[in-house]
Amino acid sequence: MTSTKTIKEKQRLELSPLEVPQRLLLGPGPSNAHPAVLQAMSTTPLGHLDPAFLGIMDEIQSLLRYVWQTENEHTIAVSGTGTAAMEATLANVVECGDVVLIGVAGYFGNRLVDMAGRYGADVRTINKPWGQVFSLAEIRTALETHKPAILALVHAETSTGARQPLEEVGELCREHGTLLLVDTVTSLGGVRILLDEWGVDLAYSCSQKGLGCSPGASPFTMSSRAMEKLHNRKSKVANWYLDMLLLGKYWGEERTYHHTAPINLYYGLREALRLIAEEGIENSWQRHQKNVEYLWDSLESIGLKMHVDKQYRLPTLTTVCIPQGVDGKAVTKELLLDHNIEIGAGLGELAGKVWRVGLMGYNSRQESVDKLVAALETVINHSR
Ligand SMILES: *Cc1c(COP(=O)(O)O)cnc(C)c1O
Repeated sequence: MTSTKTIKEKQRLELSPLEVPQRLLLGPGPSNAHPAVLQAMSTTPLGHLDPAFLGIMDEIQSLLRYVWQTENEHTIAVSGTGTAAMEATLANVVECGDVVLIGVAGYFGNRLVDMAGRYGADVRTINKPWGQVFSLAEIRTALETHKPAILALVHAETSTGARQPLEEVGELCREHGTLLLVDTVTSLGGVRILLDEWGVDLAYSCSQKGLGCSPGASPFTMSSRAMEKLHNRKSKVANWYLDMLLLGKYWGEERTYHHTAPINLYYGLREALRLIAEEGIENSWQRHQKNVEYLWDSLESIGLKMHVDKQYRLPTLTTVCIPQGVDGKAVTKELLLDHNIEIGAGLGELAGKVWRVGLMGYNSRQESVDKLVAALETVINHSR
């Protein structure tokens, strides 16, 4: 008699230890983690209240302040991916009925809209076609019209490859008594950010894009202005896991148990941040810029065009127009299966129109560009 049980039993005994294909991850994230980061992650775990581990947490905090260029006391890593840190920003400062103005020019702007609504915000939006950015004048008019408690913008819109300029936005927000919340998930580590100089009050990121770590430990920071709004809340933060008053007691002096930190991910994040500190943050920004310009030139040399205006293109993510007559999906599939290179497909308004190529963190190297462009040329010729 064969039952599903005996088949499973056979499978159980035949399973070999984990083996994964070696891929070059040049999509919208994750990017390949630096080998030193992978090594740090395979170190034996410490207890989450061990003084040695608490010391690592302190180092993560100072290193995060460095890469973000902020003095914010409340700068921590959230145990979860970028989306958890994103949710944390809104959960902590939004109270029912607060006007939250969101710049929507891509997929992640829409995600902020959905999240803010769930925390009871009175959500207003300004919109742009995917691939464009908001001008300072447009932002000023919207602040005057909506008088929001919070303005949320995506610095690096991963669905479009556009970089939203932030200079002077913080000043405008201060004139209107508005907190400035910024998504820096695809910019931290790879795109110039000066959080304090730009007057950003709340920001979040992830570990697996510009920082070159595995996903799961996500940078989060809030200014003293944002902290004040949190302290003055009439209602408790609706999300227990992401409540910064509780988390602040674990990351701060009290060291009160809140949750078990994903120890090995924090090791990885600490190593990834240390590598950036060793390189120098300005050098890391310059490296990303230099390599992406090389990518654009190389792609143009095989006849491809970019979707975003050059001055607003991201150093970390490029949207490449799929040429007429080329099957975009067939190309990404062949790149992955025959060349072990992952690139991303278009989302939303850009679905079927672009590929998304990431050069993030450890992967921002000339060698990655050379491998991709050579493979892409071969594969495109097949698919015509
Ligand atoms: C990737 C990304 C997120 C979500 O981060 P996860 O780590 O995937 O949860 C949020 N915002 C932007 C702009 C992103 O690119």
